[in-house]
Amino acid sequence: MTPKSKAKQDSSEKKIEPPAPDLSGSAPDTASKTKKKYTIEIYKGWCKCCGICAAFCPRECIRLDEEGMPFVEETDRCTGCGWCELHCPDFAISVHERRAKRIEPTED
Ligand code: SF4
Ligand code: SF4
Repeated sequence: MTPKSKAKQDSSEKKIEPPAPDLSGSAPDTASKTKKKYTIEIYKGWCKCCGICAAFCPRECIRLDEEGMPFVEETDRCTGCGWCELHCPDFAISVHERRAKRIEPTED
């Protein structure tokens, strides 16, 4: 037996185990573990109610009230693309990633 054929034989002897099946019946919850969340802040004092942010947000997170003032309707849809922040002519909108709250240890 040549060294090459021996190596081939050794590698074919290694048994690769398939991953254990998930028998829980529920779909894997990968989205909630990986999806980032964002906070959208609107500085009303700087906003001139042009409506650009609401009109062009690709996820329709921002709406306008009856006076044309934007408000955040749905933060969970925000992808953090930054379009609104970049295109607001008055720098009146800011988007940043929400961090998980730090849990302080308690004293018993
Ligand atoms: S960051 Fe993007 S998705 Fe989020 S509110 Fe602004 S435009 Fe919409
Ligand atoms: S783009 Fe800026 S100025 Fe225009 S409505 Fe939105 S926050 Fe206000």
